[in-house]
Amino acid sequence: MEESGDWRPVSHGCQTAASRSISGAMLDLSDRIRSRCCHDAPSVLRVRTEERSRVKEIMAAHDDHDRWMAICLQAAEEAARAGDFPNGACVVVEQQVVAISGSEAEHGTDSTAHAEVASLRKAVASGDLPRGATLFTTLEPCAMCLHSAAVAGVKEIVFACSRSEVGDDAYVSKLDATAMAKQLIQPLTLTHHGDPNGRVSKLVLRFLSHDGR
Ligand SMILES: [Zn+2]
Repeated sequence: MEESGDWRPVSHGCQTAASRSISGAMLDLSDRIRSRCCHDAPSVLRVRTEERSRVKEIMAAHDDHDRWMAICLQAAEEAARAGDFPNGACVVVEQQVVAISGSEAEHGTDSTAHAEVASLRKAVASGDLPRGATLFTTLEPCAMCLHSAAVAGVKEIVFACSRSEVGDDAYVSKLDATAMAKQLIQPLTLTHHGDPNGRVSKLVLRFLSHDGR
């Protein structure tokens, strides 16, 4: 029962998903993303009541990478609404989301707070970043985020939209992330998940057109 608008997973397998250290980026996606998952409902830990219900909706409506990408997209949309760069990321450890963040670089005091770095920092702050984590992000990571993830022991970065889909000028770095990932001291896997219906690219291109870049 494939739906053209769904996020498609790279792989498919049963999992029990839980979410911890959830940011305030959890917004209702249930009316925009259709359920096609037959797996058990996940348990949800250490989140506020209102966030818990929203995360559970996402977990019930998606499977595998689709779930994490849906969470990243929410964080990206939240960042866009705040006037920041529309990128979102989450850190997944043993099938649990341990940190979520949108970009905080545009309107904060820290220009290095890209969504990927910000989510890694949140995972560290909560004590939930063992080596071997997976980092999901709506956009192909820049050089800074790629290296930060490698230093943090991330084993794989899964991104939805490649930089070529929104133009190189949208990024701090024009370096080839895929080639770079293979050259790191601690190489990691860089997986292009895809951007169904161009939802991520539309967010980015809209931001860039308003931002005058
Ligand atoms: Zn970055």
